[in-house]
Amino acid sequence: MIDMISGALAGLRSAADLIRVAVDTRDAAKLAEARSALLDRIIDVQTACIDLQAKQQTLSNEKHAMADRIRDLEDELRELKATHGKIERYARAKTAAGAVVYIDKETEGAADGPVYACAACMGKGKVTTLQPQRGGAFLVCPEGHPRIPTGKRLPAPRRQVVARMV
Ligand SMILES: [Zn+2]
Repeated sequence: MIDMISGALAGLRSAADLIRVAVDTRDAAKLAEARSALLDRIIDVQTACIDLQAKQQTLSNEKHAMADRIRDLEDELRELKATHGKIERYARAKTAAGAVVYIDKETEGAADGPVYACAACMGKGKVTTLQPQRGGAFLVCPEGHPRIPTGKRLPAPRRQVVARMV
């Protein structure tokens, strides 16, 4: 591209030299010829500049697209690192009913019970905390995965004793 502009400028200089010679010799035919050559060279320079602007615009667009892509990849990497950090806190385990869950290792011996995470979500690289349902008989994933049996038996419902009047 730079070569094209340099060539066009050199042509422009040659045309200017021709004009100078034509003016010095006061030759009208040479002057007209030199004038025509000069106009042709000016058009060459303009064409080269327009091509250069178009290429510069293309490069600029590509640069912005690359910057966007780098930003997206950095965001993705940051999220992956954060998720990886969360996943490392969990260990795979089975409930008493044999269902696979993940347990937050920091809460494993907690007095109020461990925090569980969904194995299906974990398989997709996402940590989702399971919530107890029906008194702890099941664990439920808020992402809609099938509920997980814990194997914990519910206490039998209390029966009301009604005294009979005799
Ligand atoms: Zn889930």
